[in-house]
Amino acid sequence: MTNNRTKVLGVWVDRVTMDQAAQIAEQFIQLREPSLIATANAEMVMLAQQDEELAAILRSCELVLADGAGVVWAAGRLGHRVPERVAGFDLTQELLLRSAQHGYRVFWLGAAPGIAEAAIQKATQKYPGLITAGFQDGFFSADDQDVIRLIHEAKPDILLCALGVPKQEKWLSKNKALLQVPVLIGVGGTFDVMAGIVKRAPVWMQKAGLEWSYRLLSQPTRLLRMLALPRFVVSVLKAAWTSR
Ligand code: UDP
Repeated sequence: MTNNRTKVLGVWVDRVTMDQAAQIAEQFIQLREPSLIATANAEMVMLAQQDEELAAILRSCELVLADGAGVVWAAGRLGHRVPERVAGFDLTQELLLRSAQHGYRVFWLGAAPGIAEAAIQKATQKYPGLITAGFQDGFFSADDQDVIRLIHEAKPDILLCALGVPKQEKWLSKNKALLQVPVLIGVGGTFDVMAGIVKRAPVWMQKAGLEWSYRLLSQPTRLLRMLALPRFVVSVLKAAWTSR
């Protein structure tokens, strides 16, 4: 965590821009110290209210970013604005660009078989020179030592982990010491979007803070988990009220 951070319903969030977040990640690569980056949206913050393991992991993260209009709004409402939204998908693109420029090795872990390969193909076209350290789909057994060995031996600088929240944070935190990768980051559905099988909301909706509604309409199966959003709003308003 940086020392410029703010608390949103018990979860510390770093008050950094996209550019600062990417620079910090590059510092982790230079230091070669395994560092965990989480991108917290409203769903993750609400999950951390009940899931003590996730809450503890978020406290131990080297960087927690405000992924989502909800968390940006909440930080402002609770008194300490964050400079901007730093979405996991966008940070991934920024890290891939910097990786292509500086030769950082990227390992892609997660999503259904074939998806990481498709995402890598798109990324290699978009970011010429990008080095792929390796890839592995996300449907392996939780204690699969082979996967850890595969990643460790590939010697990546960045591990993009797309297993979904909170599985990816728990897996990365548990295996942080064994993996010995400087930048460990949970990126959720990023590979699916990059591979073109899931669409992201249009930019105007992202800017208007409406990405969640697009997600709900395009993936209605998310309804149950998205019920966390109104609960998040109510909890933030309550917290803002009681702190007056
Ligand atoms: N996934 C995976 N292994 C699992 C469960 C999920 O690799 O055991 C992948 C899934 O295929 C998808 C991603 O994790 O690519 C989760 O995407 P989602 O948009 O749900 O991410 P979240 O909203 O949880 O960040």
